[in-house]
Amino acid sequence: MTRALLVVDVQNDFTEGGALGVEGGADVATKVSGLLAKDGDSYDVIVASRDWHDAGSDNGGHFATDDAPNFTTTWPVHCVAGSVGAEYHPDLTTGSVDVHVFKGQGSPSYSAFDGTTDEGRTLREVLARNEVTEVDIVGIATDYCVRASALDALAGGMKVRVLTEFVAGVAPESSEASLKELVDAGAELV
Ligand SMILES: [Zn+2]
Repeated sequence: MTRALLVVDVQNDFTEGGALGVEGGADVATKVSGLLAKDGDSYDVIVASRDWHDAGSDNGGHFATDDAPNFTTTWPVHCVAGSVGAEYHPDLTTGSVDVHVFKGQGSPSYSAFDGTTDEGRTLREVLARNEVTEVDIVGIATDYCVRASALDALAGGMKVRVLTEFVAGVAPESSEASLKELVDAGAELV
């Protein structure tokens, strides 16, 4: 058994004060840093993803162009590559992160499994190369990118646990529904 920790989108724009700030996001950054300090060594691979959109583009309709995002499929401009908003939250300690994955370049992308490394490897390739069989998932947002990443990990045949103390969602109802959906799909909530 080979275990990976996947830290999803703990970025400035998804935390309080950011373009799409999620309540509890900064707290997730602090808590995940605590998890990495305490249990980081128990993981064979630690991966962190970042939403990383193109500047000057609606990124395939992901950014609302009429200033009226519906917060379901269209969103305010966020996580533009190279901007402060796209950086990891300063309270997230990234020293032990082995692999950094970028997603959403020019298109909507909720799952970290859509992402690639700087070398152009997909997350699936990275995990396969390390023979990862179990993935623990933490990060933001429970009801969007955590959900999509967990579903893709399950679809890839991995044993998936969502560490519920280390996630934050856009809305309570959809976060609850997403966690239930993940359990029904075979994930374990810890
Ligand atoms: Zn995005």
